[in-house]
Amino acid sequence: MALFPIRTFGDPVLRAVAEPIGEITSSLERLVDDMLETMYDAPGVGLAAPQIGVSKAIFVADIGDGPFVMINPEIVERGGEWTWEEGCLSVPERFWPISRPGFAKARGLDLDGNEVTHEGEELMGRVLQHEVDHLNGILLLEHLPRRVKKQALRDLREEALGMSSGS
Ligand code: ZN
Repeated sequence: MALFPIRTFGDPVLRAVAEPIGEITSSLERLVDDMLETMYDAPGVGLAAPQIGVSKAIFVADIGDGPFVMINPEIVERGGEWTWEEGCLSVPERFWPISRPGFAKARGLDLDGNEVTHEGEELMGRVLQHEVDHLNGILLLEHLPRRVKKQALRDLREEALGMSSGS
């Protein structure tokens, strides 16, 4: 197992649509171990492969009921609405109230290649939608109201510039 640095806002891998996984190999199992270790260390409740620089359609999550993996996941059902202070390991230490469907159901494959579904309200529904978004190159910023998003992008760009100039 290995810890990976988490890619942050501005890294193009976060904007790319992740490649679907055709074959489940032992290297994919290693990737999952590394992703789980990185997620727990962060700590976070979900982590998508692009967040460690791997543009493949897989995420791991654990909202407290134990870890699970989804390969090539898609949201197949959603409903209701829930507003929650949402954050992202790739946009560290920032949270915004974001409204999304409160319920979501995702379908994909597990590490044995079997079809699995995960579904839930509130945190579970949120994590499923957030991680599937990552695999489509979408960050939580896309769900902010226009004005809030503009300000957030301005702040993040300024921060990135500050960091690169060493301040
Ligand atoms: Zn995220």
